[in-house]
Amino acid sequence: MQVKRIDSSDENVSKYVFDFGNAVAEAVLYKYPTYEDRTVICCSTQSGCPVGCRFCGAGDAFVRSLTGDEIVAQVQHLFADRGIDPEAVQRCQIMFMSMGEPLLNFGGLSDAIRKLHALYPRFALLISTSAPDVDYERVRDLSVEVPTVGLQFSVHESTDEARNALIPFKAKLTLAQIAKEGELWFRATGREPFFNYCAHDRNTSHEDAERIYQIFNPMFWQATISVVCERDESVAAANIRQRQLATDFMEKLNAYGYPTRCFDPAGQDDIGGGCGQLWFVQEWMRNNPELARPSIGRSIPIVHAPRCTA
Ligand code: SF4
Repeated sequence: MQVKRIDSSDENVSKYVFDFGNAVAEAVLYKYPTYEDRTVICCSTQSGCPVGCRFCGAGDAFVRSLTGDEIVAQVQHLFADRGIDPEAVQRCQIMFMSMGEPLLNFGGLSDAIRKLHALYPRFALLISTSAPDVDYERVRDLSVEVPTVGLQFSVHESTDEARNALIPFKAKLTLAQIAKEGELWFRATGREPFFNYCAHDRNTSHEDAERIYQIFNPMFWQATISVVCERDESVAAANIRQRQLATDFMEKLNAYGYPTRCFDPAGQDDIGGGCGQLWFVQEWMRNNPELARPSIGRSIPIVHAPRCTA
């Protein structure tokens, strides 16, 4: 395994590119403000991604699913490389959201979750999913077995029509089905799932908030609001432009009773750490065309479209 590290200029974020020979993966490491205070890790569950979201550079091509050991190795390498003693870290969240759709690699994901929980029993493990149409009972069972597992659905829009344009992969749940699965997950685990919503100037009206409220019961759900940026735009530029938009929409959802948080991509700008900015992965795909096949969701042409950072 060959690993390359790229640090942000503010030294708060590091991106790692893992070359497994026949697959590539990325992981991102954050500190807030020190690793000991709070560490966040985003790691990949697949090399490339079959879903093909229109905002995401990872979705241009799919190579293969990663094994549980390859997922765990990303986390362990980050700790070792930075000399982080996991025992000394007060708060840590490991998120399965860098590259790949975790629920389309349930075998690798569940193996990694069990191993990571055994290694780091205090650390939160967040599954972030675009909601493919899979068996969610096994997700609930795993989440009951491992009490540090969280679940986040990438919702991003307030109508299925708009969401279908963003996530063209057909075999996925509708918004109403996501709401139902989230409620079942809440009832099984006693923990609130998150929906992630990428705010842009066409999905942040009062009508959008009302539609979300009609679908997702705030008794069961928490909201993550993310800044979006255009495909060729830097995260920093998008953050400045869209931050107010995201904050305003957070306040609208707060008024409906949702606990909300905002995903802050600051620091990723100069390392391509955001979803869709997987520059080194894209270069690897170009250099290995025999291993990288086009994603299902990319059967339609890519247009200038918003993308998320989570
Ligand atoms: S956003 Fe996630 S699910 Fe969509 S293409 Fe990118 S990695 Fe895959």
